[in-house]
Order: sequence, then structure tokens, then C-alpha cells
Amino acid sequence: MRIDGFDIMPVEMPLHDKDWAFALATVSSARGYAVRLSSDGAHGYGYAPAIPHMGSTFEGLPVELARFAAVTKGFDPRDIEGLLQRLDRSLHGASQAKAAIECAAHDLVARALGAPLWALLGGKLRDRVHVIRILALKPPDEMATKAAELFSEGYRYFKIKVHGDIDEDVARVRAIRERLGDNCHLTIDANQSYTPKAAILAIERMAVHRIDLFEQPVNRFDLKGLEMVTRASPSIVEADEAAGTLEEIAVIARNRLADSVSLKIPKLGGLRNARAAARLCAANGVKYRIGAHVGTRLLNAHGLHLAVSSPEIDYACELGEFARMDNDSFEGLEVKNGTIELPESTGCGVTPTTQAWQPLPERS
Ligand SMILES: [Mg+2]
Repeated sequence: MRIDGFDIMPVEMPLHDKDWAFALATVSSARGYAVRLSSDGAHGYGYAPAIPHMGSTFEGLPVELARFAAVTKGFDPRDIEGLLQRLDRSLHGASQAKAAIECAAHDLVARALGAPLWALLGGKLRDRVHVIRILALKPPDEMATKAAELFSEGYRYFKIKVHGDIDEDVARVRAIRERLGDNCHLTIDANQSYTPKAAILAIERMAVHRIDLFEQPVNRFDLKGLEMVTRASPSIVEADEAAGTLEEIAVIARNRLADSVSLKIPKLGGLRNARAAARLCAANGVKYRIGAHVGTRLLNAHGLHLAVSSPEIDYACELGEFARMDNDSFEGLEVKNGTIELPESTGCGVTPTTQAWQPLPERS
């Protein structure tokens, strides 16, 4: 089996909410590139999201992908470790582009075998997972209104974006808990916006409103600060930006610097690294779950197969953000009543709705 085709397709999904804000940026669309690998007429798909705060841009991804195409074409897609070595030797970093190719290789092999993707990941332990929906940063009342709308659609898990102002952030949590009542789960994501002491104080004040988890309280490089918050906090403290690579997760897990880690396929460079990270966490007594896979259903399909095949996941995952966007280029995945179910088809289970594949740019 040889990879004989490598094509990319830009994906741009406008958000329903044009002022979707979190502590690091305001965004109006989710953008990235779908990658299609082909072999003897069979196709496999992967997705590279443009996430500037994690190191990938819409402008840079085609250049990285063109570079990787040269070492991917002609290679056996079943030899995924070999493919990853070639990508790593070609360029350091570029995790999102590597993840797209690695996911597409998994998808291609699964489809060629007529098997679902989870079969290549060691099996499935569940058929569906609860979905957390993310509430963008807004005044408390507006966030509570949005939460109530999602609650009425069946969602019971919410992530509240906060920005490092204790009084305002506590008011957000209070407003949402008061509006929704006790029958739901609340988590917080500070996206690095707190100092350690302020985070400890904020978590103490939020705890009376019953929060399950507090994500990335402090700067990603402040591991001592992360540890301080973890030790002092009654809530589960989760690392996201600080857990950007397998090596960073190894340090966090080994030293129990956080209680939990947010795993994302793009930041970790693919499914195999994400699975390795999950194992590292579990072996060190650290929880993990699948964090936000922002963008097309294609990316979330890969995230879902990872979630159903990961033994220790015991909480909701962030696999439904596509529901707040238009223009998806892939179909076959929907959230129903706050849960997302494995598609029955082969591979990752979604198919492209358009065929606007483009040649790669010339390498200079
Ligand atoms: Mg986060």
C-alpha cells in the first residue's frame, strides 16, 4: 500500500457569534486545512486547525503541509510510526500539520480495511460521550442566557470562559449556576489569565457554586504556579496550554503538577501521541479527557474515536463546538441531547460534502 495522492482543502467556518471571545483572543471564524491522502482510489482525511496561540496559522499551514507532502507521498500509510519519524525529521514542531497527516493515514488504513477507526486504536469502551459546550466570555447575564439555551437543547456540561478578574468571573459562575439550577456540571477555563494566588482565591469563591474543574489557571510556562494552584485547590485543576506536547505532559504527570490534562489531537501531533499521553497520565494517577477540537466535524470525528477508545475518561469531552459554526465541509456527526454517538461507517465516519481539493503550493 502506497500513498499516491496528497491534497488539501481550506475550511473556513464562520461562527454564529461574531464576537466569540476568550481570555486570549476574539474570533469570528474557525479556519484550517483538511488533508486528503489517497491510495489506489481509497481516501483518508485529517484536519489541521489554525490556532495561533498554539502555533499554527491559516497562512503557514499550507507551507508546512507542502513540505510534509514530499516525505509522505510514496510511503506506506500502514507504517504510521515510520511516517511520524519522517515528519519529525523533516521539521521540528508543526504539530497541527503533522496531526492532520497522521489522522488521515489512520483514516485511510481503516477505510481500506473496511473497519472503523477505533479498531486501529485498540477497541471501543463506549459508543457515546457527553459533550461539554463552551460559553464564550461575556457579561454574566448574557453567558447565563446562552447556557440556558444550550440546556434546553439537552446539554448538561458547560465550560465557562473567564479572564482573570475574580469578582467578574465569580459573578459569571454564580449567574450561570443560578439560571441552570443543580442539574448540570460547570467547569472553568481561565486560559492562563490568573496569577497563582488569585486563581486559588477565585476557585475558593467559585466552589460554593459547585464547579467540577478549573482549566489552565496560570501562564503555560509557570509550572510552579500550576502546582501551587493544584495543591491548594479543592477543585480539579487541569492543564491545557501547559500540556502542549507529550514531553510537557510527561513532566506534569510525573510530578502531579495538575490533577488532569486536556488532550487534543492537533497540539499533540496526532492520535498516537494523544494515546501515549493518556497512558502517561493514567500511569501517574492524573486524569485526562478530550479537550476542545474547534472546527470541522472531521476533527471531532477523530477526537470521538480517541475518546471511545481511551479507558480512563470519566468526564464529558469538548467535541461539539462545530454546532456553533456554519459551512462545514464534512458531514456525518451530530450532537443529540448533549451526547455524541459513534458513526457506524468505516474510518473516522464523516465524509466530505464538497470536493474543492486544491494542489499544494510550490515549495520554494
Ligand atoms: Mg483550554
